[in-house]
Amino acid sequence: MNHKFFISFLLCIILLFAFKPFLQAEDLKIHPAQPVVITCPGQNPDGIMIKVVLENQNVNFKYRPLLQAEDMEGYSTLIIAVGHSCKGVGAAGIDYEYELLRTKNLIKKAEKTGTFILLTHLGGTGRRENRSDKLLDVVTPHADYMIISKDSNFDNYFSKASKKYNIPLEITENLSQIKPILANLFQSQSQTVEYYINGNQTETTVVINAGTHGNETVPRLAAVKMLEPFVDGGRIIIIPRANPKAISAGVRNYPKGELLNRSFPGNPNGTYAEKRASEIYNLIKGFSPDLLIDLHESQEFNFINKNYLGQSLIAYADENSIWQGAEAVESINSDIKEKIEKFVLISPPIEGSLTWAVGQNLKIPSFTLETCVKLPEKKRFEYQLNLITTLLKINGVELKWP
Ligand SMILES: [Zn+2]
Repeated sequence: MNHKFFISFLLCIILLFAFKPFLQAEDLKIHPAQPVVITCPGQNPDGIMIKVVLENQNVNFKYRPLLQAEDMEGYSTLIIAVGHSCKGVGAAGIDYEYELLRTKNLIKKAEKTGTFILLTHLGGTGRRENRSDKLLDVVTPHADYMIISKDSNFDNYFSKASKKYNIPLEITENLSQIKPILANLFQSQSQTVEYYINGNQTETTVVINAGTHGNETVPRLAAVKMLEPFVDGGRIIIIPRANPKAISAGVRNYPKGELLNRSFPGNPNGTYAEKRASEIYNLIKGFSPDLLIDLHESQEFNFINKNYLGQSLIAYADENSIWQGAEAVESINSDIKEKIEKFVLISPPIEGSLTWAVGQNLKIPSFTLETCVKLPEKKRFEYQLNLITTLLKINGVELKWP
């Protein structure tokens, strides 16, 4: 098939069939941020198909079949369509080793920059030979989301990876089903802020924000963990990478001197931090939430040095927040033996912080949760999860873990 025919053939199929994808986690909605870049390791034609679909979705994207890691800066989402095509690689004037190295570099860069990685494999069994599989092995463990064809999963490679790495997986029975999946992903209440919705019960909406400071890693892991449980009595909006530029640079604030957590509720015409604050704040406001939890970490225990916030829960200064905060702290502290690790309730939050802006303007219980980096990572992670769970429970939302 030549390319033109291939595309019209695909479009016909796309128009012909109804939407019936298999969703693994029915209650989980994923909204990657834009701009998007598409590339296709192995130079298969799947990238072109995705390009055609996105062109009709009003999505801000670029198609770069030979994208290099150094050109990824500025993209929030990487769509990586894997499958080795001898013909495609030959036509591009490169070889397989070049593609393998390029793919490794892309994934390394995407991981470092907190880029959302959407893996697609639509080539079926024909593109599951050794070379394609080697490319897949580079990408799959790092994917944030996978869309594949049913035939590609003949040996359950993708089902197993989905389970092992906890990656949401969409298995499509035919090419037509990809269009609504991509449409749903990018039909989002924010074009620039990546977020997830876990749960479809709307009694109580909870926002969990993380990644405001680029050097605080555990809060991001805790936020992502919230994708896993079944949420009973509400829904959780998860913003895992609030400040991708700072995460990418691996620093607290970026650009240096622009303090995102002093910029809320933000300004759409301001500095980078003010714009970003406005995008995040408006996304949150749009959900009319009932509770906000902003996840952070501090360099030192508050118990040791009052200038630091390690092991504290900072509540917005109103009756409801403080009452809930006191209850949460009392509950979690009852199981903590080490005095230094016990949580301290602090109020008010600093002006310009997300917790302050949300408490002030949306009049809902708002909290900043701070663990201390001097504790082992596993312990910090557990403290974050415990405090989140406790606050949710106080607000009538229960988590049921698989
Ligand atoms: Zn922080």
